[in-house]
Amino acid sequence: MIAVMRILIVEDEPKTGDYLRQGLQEAGFGVELAHTGPDGLHLALTENPDLIILDVMLPGLDGWQVLQTLRNASKNMAVLFLTARDQVDDRVRGLELGADDYLVKPFAFSELLARVRTLLRRGKTREAENQLNLLHAADLELDLLSRRASRGGQRIDLTAKEFALLELFLRRQGEVLPRSLIASQVWDMNFDSDTNVIEVAVRRLRAKMDDEFEPRLIRTVRGMGYVLEAPAAP
Ligand code: CA
Repeated sequence: MIAVMRILIVEDEPKTGDYLRQGLQEAGFGVELAHTGPDGLHLALTENPDLIILDVMLPGLDGWQVLQTLRNASKNMAVLFLTARDQVDDRVRGLELGADDYLVKPFAFSELLARVRTLLRRGKTREAENQLNLLHAADLELDLLSRRASRGGQRIDLTAKEFALLELFLRRQGEVLPRSLIASQVWDMNFDSDTNVIEVAVRRLRAKMDDEFEPRLIRTVRGMGYVLEAPAAP
């Protein structure tokens, strides 16, 4: 099933709002329309549209306030500012606040549509890139870009070695990893059965990301090594 891209229009001029809604619906988008700043903000926060077309001069809250509140709430959907104002400092202000594009009224619908499509494509690419940088097992998450680990949304502080160890476990979920493999991949050393470096490191890692959580993810396989396994989702 192809998900319909959803667009929120926040525009207080009824004619412009209806015109935009109709055009975008005909172009195949799911469209919601709000006529005031507070209504627009509420819909943006609760409905998480893929893109917002945001007028600047609005009753209640202006477009800048709406945008600022959204970005402060870590809402990163694409925002296209639509406004009658064409002064350069207004554009700069919008872009500084995190608008993705800017269109000055009056505009041709075809231009708006082209920009909307570009923004949505860019958003998809960004999302896909973010996905590539995330490793998961159950509620455990490892962000390779920001080097952050979390479980159940709770931040876990790891040393560089622990991070590398957990990354290895996550990349090879379900595989029993012999100590010799862990030693060569994470410590870049030949396995020496006299050392308990691996045991100690795995124990420390588990203490941080497993011992106080359910389900347990890392298991010892006696005589063989360790495996990280997330139970199948119910
Ligand atoms: Ca307006």
